[in-house]
Amino acid sequence: MTLNQSYPVTGNQQGVLYVIAAPSGAGKTSLVAALLQRVSNICVSVSHTTRAARPAEVNGVNYHFVSIATFEAMLTNAVFFEHAKVYDNYYGTSKQTVVEKLQQGIDVILEIDWQGAQSVRALMPDSVSIFILPPSRQILEQRLRARGQDTETVITRRMQAAVAEMSHYSAFDYVVINDQFEQALQDLQAIVQTQRLTRARQQVKYAQLLTELLA
Ligand code: 5GP
Repeated sequence: MTLNQSYPVTGNQQGVLYVIAAPSGAGKTSLVAALLQRVSNICVSVSHTTRAARPAEVNGVNYHFVSIATFEAMLTNAVFFEHAKVYDNYYGTSKQTVVEKLQQGIDVILEIDWQGAQSVRALMPDSVSIFILPPSRQILEQRLRARGQDTETVITRRMQAAVAEMSHYSAFDYVVINDQFEQALQDLQAIVQTQRLTRARQQVKYAQLLTELLA
């Protein structure tokens, strides 16, 4: 007997919107990619950015890479759900994709910075925010160094940017420390699972069962 035959799923409900932020080097992108492999009915929103693609990045997969003129036109046309200037580049989340997925009952993850998280919190108070932290300053620095042959000046600038980003952790609902990757991944999974089990969501999902049980 399948689960659905035993416990009929009746309600159609909106997906949950997750905002995940982290300093560069905390492992956010790898964790989110692994989370998508483990959990069903969840997707990540592909942002638009004016920054140049890095060597391994693919247009439409990592980001939609657009010119400043295109980004500004999109801003004028109110295409974005939220947007922010992070250092010298613009980043934005398209409203349409997020709204469509949520309406289909699919959870959506936004991998955005603290400014975007602040905007989303104001727009959608029901969204769930997660901040990923490295286990130490030393390890963060090692991870930033491991990324390429950057100069000391670049490393120092990235560390300062990372500390600035981390200073906003306290506005987030959950904090995950990425020390052991597997543990951090399980923590993220637990957060998603927790949202799916809230009384409000279960009440909609199992409305028929509840009616039967309480008759
Ligand atoms: P990167 O250029 O290293 O991919 O990203 C730089 C920062 O911009 C990261 O903190 C990343 O999370 C953030 N970011 C990426 N996409 C968006 C977005 O659509 N909106 C906002 N507010 N930040 C974003």
